[in-house]
Amino acid sequence: MFTLTPIRLSLTLLALTLSLAACNEQTTQPLNQTPTMASTLEAEDQQAALYDQADSLWYLENERAKRLADGESPTSLMQTTPLPTLQTKREPGDYSFTSPPTPPVSRAGQLLNLPDPGSVPRFTVTGLQWPAQVGDLSISMWAQDKLAAFSLTIDDNHVQDHAFWYEMAEQYGWKWTWFLIANQIGWSSADHWGHWQRALDQGHELQSHGQTHLCDALFYTFREYRQSQVEIERQLANAQVRTLAYPFGMHTDKRGSPCEPLTSERTKNSRAEAAKYFLAGRDVYGALSHPAKLDYMKVPSVSSARNFFNPQAAWAYFDSVFNPASANYRTWYVVHYHNLPNDTAKNEVRQVLAYLQTVEDKVWIAPFTQVAKYGQEYASAKLVNLQKTANSVSFELKDQMNDLWFNQPLTLKLRLPDGWSGVLTVEQQAVNRQVRTLAYQGGVYALFEVIPDRGVVTVKY
Ligand SMILES: [Zn+2]
Repeated sequence: MFTLTPIRLSLTLLALTLSLAACNEQTTQPLNQTPTMASTLEAEDQQAALYDQADSLWYLENERAKRLADGESPTSLMQTTPLPTLQTKREPGDYSFTSPPTPPVSRAGQLLNLPDPGSVPRFTVTGLQWPAQVGDLSISMWAQDKLAAFSLTIDDNHVQDHAFWYEMAEQYGWKWTWFLIANQIGWSSADHWGHWQRALDQGHELQSHGQTHLCDALFYTFREYRQSQVEIERQLANAQVRTLAYPFGMHTDKRGSPCEPLTSERTKNSRAEAAKYFLAGRDVYGALSHPAKLDYMKVPSVSSARNFFNPQAAWAYFDSVFNPASANYRTWYVVHYHNLPNDTAKNEVRQVLAYLQTVEDKVWIAPFTQVAKYGQEYASAKLVNLQKTANSVSFELKDQMNDLWFNQPLTLKLRLPDGWSGVLTVEQQAVNRQVRTLAYQGGVYALFEVIPDRGVVTVKY
């Protein structure tokens, strides 16, 4: 029916047979119709996304086997970094238990994440807003009043690619999000907590990809989620684990992976469980979502940025985020990578990043959790108690999200008097916030950032 992209050598023949059978199930065109180019490409994308994640786990497995065959010594399997105080060894006679800090409970007005909007948009998507009257305000849909958002994420613990990702981060000034399999860290000099502390210290985000990647029969789903969160926060200074990449994707598709035989219900993903511990969850297959219909507990992600440059692949074509006629207009584009096995794979990443740099004035490029916070604050935000004078405006910015977790500032835009130039101050709880002005079609506007639910904001101009 269609040709598959070259099959990776690491897949077993059995997995390949199963996957090919699945192609038929997953094609989306109605019966009795010739598959369109788009539907064929999309079905290929789904298969490729599946191969990517199975490949990634086989890669880690094979590397481990190689290290053992090469005589990895017991000493190299020891923890190579000093453990933080929380993990210091118990003294004889100490029978205490210290429970980890529990996540807040989601409740009205203090939500940990937004409910799935289904087919009902949470807001109307428009172009950039330009408030009409002096003193009028608008909330920007994305930070810095950009049109769209982009996040780059990396799954599984591919320490061997760190140097490449650091080099890219340095070149462009952007930060990535790694989703970690917690129980794989610390057992070998090839993947220990020191590697990840470095990533965190360089400003990248580290989040959860489960405790065992749903590959341990003894682990219930909630422990996959919860224990990985606790473990990473205990082991690393300044880690805040608030988002999850579902191992094997939302539907726990283990085909072709080393964990395929493990099929019990309790080793499957659950949106309801994840929503108790995380503010957002990332899937593995990415048909972009309308930005007002995004389920933040099931954020689509494009594997290896496949079809990023392909206008015929509407579900993954990056420039569709700039097209007002597209359902993807102004959406959040998330990609995920696994291991980068060769220069071809690295060059594909370089091309994507080089392109993003050319549109950076229109795209907010930020780690996954930051964008997930912004999007949910924005979707539930309101300006209240607005008071204007001739040269000032004061107001409160409120949202429905939990105030402990949701601390991402939203960008606001204020209309200033025409021809205005002078000194402008923005103050929230006696803290001055940065502000910049811009001109648009004869009007002057101020852009500044405000954290929701942190009290009255006063702008003087
Ligand atoms: Zn994975």
